Amino acid sequence: MRLDLKLTGCRALTMDPARPAAHTIGLWQGRIAGLDEQVEDLPAAETADLGGAVVLPGFIDAHTHLAWNGRRTTDIAGLTTIAGILDRLAGAPGTGWIEASGYDPRAVDRPLTAADLDRISDGRPVYVADLSGHACVVNSVVLRQLPGIDSDGWLTENEQLAARTLRLPYSVDEIVEELHESARQVLAEGVTMCAEAGIGAGLIASSPLEAAAYQRARLPIRVQLMVSAHVLHPVAADPADGIARAVDLGLHTGFGDDMLSLGALKLWTDGGMIARTAALSEPYAGTDNRGQLADFEESMRAAVIDGHNAGWQLAIHAIGDRAVDFALDAVAEAQRQRPRADARHRIEHCGLVRPAQLARIAELGVVPVVQPTFLHAYGDDYSEIMGERRAPWLYRGRSFLDHGITVAGSSDRPVADGAPLRAIEFMVRRRSCGGRAIGPDEAVTVEEALRAYTLGSAYACRKEDVLGSITPGKLADLVVLGDDPRTSDDIAQIPVLATMVNGTFAHNSAL
Ligand SMILES: [Zn+2]
Repeated sequence: MRLDLKLTGCRALTMDPARPAAHTIGLWQGRIAGLDEQVEDLPAAETADLGGAVVLPGFIDAHTHLAWNGRRTTDIAGLTTIAGILDRLAGAPGTGWIEASGYDPRAVDRPLTAADLDRISDGRPVYVADLSGHACVVNSVVLRQLPGIDSDGWLTENEQLAARTLRLPYSVDEIVEELHESARQVLAEGVTMCAEAGIGAGLIASSPLEAAAYQRARLPIRVQLMVSAHVLHPVAADPADGIARAVDLGLHTGFGDDMLSLGALKLWTDGGMIARTAALSEPYAGTDNRGQLADFEESMRAAVIDGHNAGWQLAIHAIGDRAVDFALDAVAEAQRQRPRADARHRIEHCGLVRPAQLARIAELGVVPVVQPTFLHAYGDDYSEIMGERRAPWLYRGRSFLDHGITVAGSSDRPVADGAPLRAIEFMVRRRSCGGRAIGPDEAVTVEEALRAYTLGSAYACRKEDVLGSITPGKLADLVVLGDDPRTSDDIAQIPVLATMVNGTFAHNSAL
């Protein structure tokens, strides 16, 4: 046998307990052919000496938004005055919608309103997305097209969706461009696979033809598409199939190949912490606001059950503990009606989990898909709005693992920084960017954090048989780092030297 490529001089942390370290990796036909003595004596078309660099399985971001992230909107992140925001938006090129992103209502001197935006809009519709994705500010041109909504411009959840729907769809060409922009960015951060969290409909969708954009884009990273549950519709299947609603053609989780496949069915059960719409069992500290569920419980439960029956893995967005309760109850009910072994349903975010909910998550085999970087960026604010008793329950790590729950790492990019090493650093140190300790008892070891971003996220995407560790027979997705995260003082700053997808370097800055 002749290898395609032999990597020597590696310090590989394989994430495979059967063989945790390796110095030589043999690659053939896009797969790991063998390690160390299995491949040392084999000839290879090419050999690369990595000079002692650290090699890990490629990072898998189990929840991200590639199209949204790559969108060319006017970025107002970091602006702290209304005057500054209006300055940036004035004179936007083009003639159609003026779109901005990165608005943070907590950071500005006063709330942005429709009247403010009217001053710079020149009669054009204006849509300013807040950075959580769960709220926006629009101008009066947009409000006039939304009869029945009484607002000074600030819209959340369903009202926001109504405004968003006026702008949609984006063209397939536009989406393809956005996807390539994001793929370049994530490869430079060591990510080899992304799960796109909700295409086709709903808050963050771009077009009803979104899957076509992914198919046309032929991205240099692996992508798994979560499909919005809003596209489930009644189908005239044989009653013996027991499927009331499905996606066209009966497509469901697992369809596709190793580069592009269908992942979970995405459902939304509440909002977010930034917009104070995550559904809590007790109010946000100092208020009587308990957030909100995204829809009537009956219709959300019906979507869970129909999706489960149609063969989907479910990815249920639930941030507040009240939404987590709802998600767990609905999954339990679906499993009671039709038991499915290893359905492996996921809870996206799983942001606030009461101690008593941990055992239930474990018992139902639900996978929390967490975003550690939320707490690095927004942990000071989240801790304030939860209060002292609940702050340690935010975006848990240690207690999930201690309950035997698989933790999957993800970013929710562009809501927060997408770099996996930043998230891994946070999981280990539990420090916000403001220096505050956030639930320090939830800290995990470096190995455990790395596992969450490799094998853990592969498991959440049902790909652990082919991805997530450097194991002979698995797909050859690797990241080469400039330092060992286990001994580094600043994991977030470790340089990503190269990223390999399917046996070839898709990003290479230093080899
Ligand atoms: Zn998301």
